[in-house]
Amino acid sequence: MSADFQHGAASSWRRAPRPILSAPDGMPPAALIRYIDAIRQGLLMIDDSGSVIVCSAPARHLLACLGMALRQDASALHLLRALRAGTAQFRGAVLQSVRTALIEQQPVTFELTRQDHTVQVELHPAAGGTWAVILEDVSRRRAIEARADEMARLDPLTGLPNRLLLRERLAEALARLQRTGEACALLLIDLDRFKPVNDTLGHPIGDALLEKVADRLRSTVRPTDTVARIGGDEFVILQAGVRDAAGTQALARRIVDLIGRTYMVEGHLLTIGASVGVALAPEDGADADKLLKNADLALYRAKLDGRGTYRFFESEMDARMQVRRKLELDMRQALARREFKLHYQPQLQLETDRVIGCEALIRWTHPERGLVSPLDFIPLAEEIGLIVPIGEWVIRQACRDAMTWPAQMSVAVNVSPAQFKSDRLVETIISALASSGLPARRLEVEITEGVLLQENEKTLQTLHRLRELGVRVSMDDFGTGYSSLSYLRSFPFDKIKIDRSFVKDLSTKPDGEAIIRAIAGLGKSLGMSTVAEGVETVEQMQRIRLEGCTDVQGYLISKPVPTEDLVQIFASYPSQV
Ligand code: C2E
Ligand code: MG
Ligand code: MG
Repeated sequence: MSADFQHGAASSWRRAPRPILSAPDGMPPAALIRYIDAIRQGLLMIDDSGSVIVCSAPARHLLACLGMALRQDASALHLLRALRAGTAQFRGAVLQSVRTALIEQQPVTFELTRQDHTVQVELHPAAGGTWAVILEDVSRRRAIEARADEMARLDPLTGLPNRLLLRERLAEALARLQRTGEACALLLIDLDRFKPVNDTLGHPIGDALLEKVADRLRSTVRPTDTVARIGGDEFVILQAGVRDAAGTQALARRIVDLIGRTYMVEGHLLTIGASVGVALAPEDGADADKLLKNADLALYRAKLDGRGTYRFFESEMDARMQVRRKLELDMRQALARREFKLHYQPQLQLETDRVIGCEALIRWTHPERGLVSPLDFIPLAEEIGLIVPIGEWVIRQACRDAMTWPAQMSVAVNVSPAQFKSDRLVETIISALASSGLPARRLEVEITEGVLLQENEKTLQTLHRLRELGVRVSMDDFGTGYSSLSYLRSFPFDKIKIDRSFVKDLSTKPDGEAIIRAIAGLGKSLGMSTVAEGVETVEQMQRIRLEGCTDVQGYLISKPVPTEDLVQIFASYPSQV
């Protein structure tokens, strides 16, 4: 610091000839200087000739931090010259501020930074062409802000960039692409089977697993790539400097392999998987939104194709998605427009040759497409949660319709996994029974393995609550899943519905009969009735009767029909009347 600043005992100096600072009445200027020195902010005063006439001790210190040493005869010009260290752009900005303050006679504020120091400068034009300059050290504040800014861009659990930072990096990569032609790739990663880990072992284990996933991802990319976490179990890799798709494909394959390897978390051996959707820039999009959207479409495809795999974006994925979206929109309106109808397929009890009940099967008459099969829209309705209101309508309508049938006739409704997940199922059933007046024992709920696949306490509780109400529970499509047998042990079903594929195999495959016989025997021992689905021929019916099934359902008895047409069918099985 320049020795010129040392000025007697008082650490501030005041230029001798024309002090513009006048002390209030009765207060000597030296005392005033002491006060000014005591203020944390630095004060500079510049007279109408541009000379610095007051420079408080904190001001001197702050200027020194910025590498500026003021001589006693310093002028505002010296100050500006001292800025020469900054970039031309920076100097320009400061000069512009000074100019604005001069012309508009308004205070202006700007910041000067040197190394770790940031000083806020306020220029106050005062009367008669004089200036007051207030300097304040804002280094700490700015450092905290910078840290907060950084934290806002990081995922607190894994320390990886979050969606915000990913967006910024993506924007930079795309700008680079424009400038230099350097291609990049976006890999969207979704963990398979992560949720069950979180649900069954708890969040601390889930979190620890996510940290391990993050480590593995970090370990397999180059320093120039970005690994981000953008959701619960969603990660993204932005691969920079892509030369050809082969490099990206190798990375995608590595991710699927790495994430799929076993983890050891607090004594638990865990296995999850990864589905990966890939979009390349510029081929699949040169803006961030499009790339993200296309990577998402590819990810969707990877999941549909059985998960644990990667897919690159292809343009027809977009077209397929448009169709799906249209179907989704239409389905959302179908309930309000009353486009759904229920058809009923009778079930015949073999021992008595009586129709004992009917299964409700939903039908959708689309205004343009005509009849849409439930196989085409139920899975989508499940996926987007629309099955909950649709299923509720089915239950209510089926109960109402069954009230118009003979008193012993039951009605079976298909209930999807998503309906079990929502808390409303039992309430809906209670309400549907109450408002229709149908006795609970006449209602049957058909569930598939999908419901039990997510078997947890809650699903079983729901099933038991239904049983307590008097509602019967059937296992649908038996034999098609992975472990139908073990599910039979988890809950005392009333009925097993043998999947249609086994009935079809009766005449074509030698083991067809043996399988049906075994299931019928199993049902008998467990005290459950067994219904053979999809019986189309008299021959099939005879064989099924021989194998010991208790009931049959199929086109041979009747195709699914509207409730109005049931009267005729009921009448053609006179023994039940
Ligand atoms: P599902 O519950 O196994 O229903 C039996 C399916 O087999 C019905 O198909 C029925 O029309 C068909 N079927 C019955 N007998 C025969 C036969 O002799 N030959 C042949 N080839 N097919 C026969 P649909 O109506 O197309 O329903 C398909 C599936 O859609 C149902 O399988 C069920 O899983 C689901 N579904 C239908 N309605 C609903 C509903 O209201 N809610 C839910 N969640 N799912 C439903
Ligand atoms: Mg069914
Ligand atoms: Mg079935």
